[in-house]
Amino acid sequence: MRLKRKLLHTFLRRTAMVALVVGLVLSLFQGWQDQQNQLVNIERTVNHLVDAAMPSAAMAAYSIDTGLASSVVDGLSLRNPVAEARIVSDFHDTLASAKLHEPQMPDGWTLGILRLLLGEDYQISRPLFGPLYHNQPLPVGYLEVTVSPALGGEDFLGRVLLGLALMMVQTVLLCAILTWVYLRTTLLPVERIVDDLQDIPPEPGDSLRPIRIPPGHHSDEIGYLVESFNRLIGSAELELIARRRAEDSLRLINEDLESRVDERTRHLHREIGERRTIENALRISENRFRDLAEVSSDWFWESDHNGRLTIISERFLAHTGLSWESVAGRSLNDLIEMGVVTVISPAWPELRRQIVHSQSRLTFEVMLHLKDGGHLRAAIAGKRFLSSTGKVLGYRGTGHDITRQYDDAEKLRLAYGEAERANAAKSEFLANMSHELRTPMNAILGFAQLLLLPRAQPLDPSQTQYVQHIIDAGDHLLGLINQVLDLARIEAGHLDLSSEPLDMAALAIECLDMLAPLAEKRSIQMFLDERPVPPAPGDVPVLVVLGDRVRLKQIVINLLSNAIKYNRSGGMVRLRLREQGVSHLTISIEDNGIGIPVDHLPKIFDPFHRVLASSQAAEGTGVGLAVTRRLVEAMNGSISVTSTEGEGSHFWFTIPRLTAASIAGWTPRKMGDGEMGWWSTETAILRHGTPLQVLYIEDNPANQALMQDLLAVVGGVTLVTVSTGSEALGWAVDHLADLVMIDINLPDVTGDVVAQRLRQMPDYQTVMMVAISANVRAQDIAQARGMGFDDYLCKPFEVASVVNCLVEAKRRLSPALPS
Ligand code: ADP
Repeated sequence: MRLKRKLLHTFLRRTAMVALVVGLVLSLFQGWQDQQNQLVNIERTVNHLVDAAMPSAAMAAYSIDTGLASSVVDGLSLRNPVAEARIVSDFHDTLASAKLHEPQMPDGWTLGILRLLLGEDYQISRPLFGPLYHNQPLPVGYLEVTVSPALGGEDFLGRVLLGLALMMVQTVLLCAILTWVYLRTTLLPVERIVDDLQDIPPEPGDSLRPIRIPPGHHSDEIGYLVESFNRLIGSAELELIARRRAEDSLRLINEDLESRVDERTRHLHREIGERRTIENALRISENRFRDLAEVSSDWFWESDHNGRLTIISERFLAHTGLSWESVAGRSLNDLIEMGVVTVISPAWPELRRQIVHSQSRLTFEVMLHLKDGGHLRAAIAGKRFLSSTGKVLGYRGTGHDITRQYDDAEKLRLAYGEAERANAAKSEFLANMSHELRTPMNAILGFAQLLLLPRAQPLDPSQTQYVQHIIDAGDHLLGLINQVLDLARIEAGHLDLSSEPLDMAALAIECLDMLAPLAEKRSIQMFLDERPVPPAPGDVPVLVVLGDRVRLKQIVINLLSNAIKYNRSGGMVRLRLREQGVSHLTISIEDNGIGIPVDHLPKIFDPFHRVLASSQAAEGTGVGLAVTRRLVEAMNGSISVTSTEGEGSHFWFTIPRLTAASIAGWTPRKMGDGEMGWWSTETAILRHGTPLQVLYIEDNPANQALMQDLLAVVGGVTLVTVSTGSEALGWAVDHLADLVMIDINLPDVTGDVVAQRLRQMPDYQTVMMVAISANVRAQDIAQARGMGFDDYLCKPFEVASVVNCLVEAKRRLSPALPS
């Protein structure tokens, strides 16, 4: 293992280095000590030798005995470390000298080392003294000795080298021992720990294993180290787990963040896409708006919140010959003052008020003064526009040249006025015609009815039949007159319809009752829904519609009478009432009669249209269905038909109906008319008590005679007849009438003037007054009622209605009469 080798090498290197240095220092110290000892020994040896030779040498010098001198120096020179010895006399003569032989000197490099260690050769000189002279030793010469420390130094060098070698061996051994100890005690346990550490699973997610304490190290530093390390691992593990968790949650957050970023990015892309689409759409819409504004109007404009122009199209400038600079920022008031515009409607103060109050829409007409001096009438429309906070930002709108329309409308208005007048003339003519026809009809039908009333000498059967023919023909003629007049009125828009809640079921029963004799005559069975007519009382639910009672009855009777007329003997007619949603009621009349050919169906509601076959089957005018349809439509309904020739027809119409809530508290009106048996009851009332005084003002003698005869038959009435208004007023001064019947068209004054004058007389203020006239227009009737008449009878009058008036007058006189 690299780690082990490296630690070992480092340890070895450093230990060896330290041991070497220490060994070297110790060796040098040892060597230095040896050297010092050596030098001391040499010095001691030399001193000993010299001291020993001094007496002989002194003798030799005193006696100048060269032989002795020679033996002394020879003896000295033979002893290490003396290299040379010389005895010099006091006269500086050398008595003897001796040198060491060369071969006794060490080898060249050894000598060099020894000289380096022990120093170079040196000389010592000692004075030699003879016998005392004058108590003073007598100097006789010198003994000079040259000392060479290297001489005999091989031992010393050997010792030094041996010490060095021993030191080296010691060092190596020490190194080896230290290394071994280090290996055993430190490095191997550390290696084991390192091995264990390397076994710690490097894979993320695995948990850390504690390291084993090497055997024998439980209580030393290695053991503590491993324990500390294990504690560290434990806390690292915990930290790792915490970090992993943190990383996990961080990853989750990161993923969430990334997905959010993705989502947001997608959203942004989508938004950008949508915004682009919206911008495109906006641009297209703006272009479309401009194009539409250009083509749908002559010009468009826009003003700010002060009413100053901010935009106006070229066409306006082309019309007026003005430049944009001259109108930009101008208000309508400025344009008026500049003479460009004159406001026609509404009046300028009113229009200004609308602008000042920021009315949401403006519509006005102006006259534009053109550059060529001409004029142009224009309709201006403007709409207020607001900021997102609701602040008024200004107006924008369009302008139209309506000169031609205005001229056309003017022409139309004139033409319409003409048509109106013509129509009024037609209506007037028809009303007059009707009046003229009704007056004689009154006499014809009145007398005919008189003939049929119960009388002392009744008519024989053939006479009765003749009279009945007169009445039928008269009725037919009267029907024709009425229908033509209705049609004329409807077409002229003069039909006055009331709108009241009506019990449609009761009204239908009433119509069925009225036509029952006719149906019976032709052996035709009639049904109301699935029940044969007449239904049991309370059998039919109340269905309330909104309409005009008289006209609704007219519609139902028209359709029912057609269903009977254009039927076959033994046929059937069925009237059905059906709720049509919450708002309408459908009334259908079905028969199984001769039917209508399919090619006639589209024209069947046209005036005077009749089918040939049916005109042979029954007489008619061809106006009934035309009037019926117009009446239905006037009451906000609609009528339809289906029919199959030879099988029957089915007519149905809808009429607005009332909901339960809107009819709360309303009770259907009791139908009084049409009831049979009235004659005897009413005449009994009239004949009871004081006769009724009736004043009849009528210029037509036939009608005078009719009234006289009628009242004679009725009985219980005193009649005074006068022909003019003035006659009547004259009579009234002295007489009191209980009932005044006045013809409206009198030769001198109109009937309503007579009525008013009579009302001014104190006695006549509460007297019942009835108008009788051939004028049957609603406005005539309403006018008459407004003039103080209590009732209005149309000529030709029904005998029954005259009798009703008489009874009413009688009741006013005697309120206690039975009702
Ligand atoms: P009128 O009955 O007086 O002729 P209408 O206007 O009521 O006039 O009818 C127009 C025509 O429609 C009739 O002449 C007849 O030919 C045809 N018609 C109306 N109702 C029926 C019906 N229920 N069955 C067959 N034909 C009918």
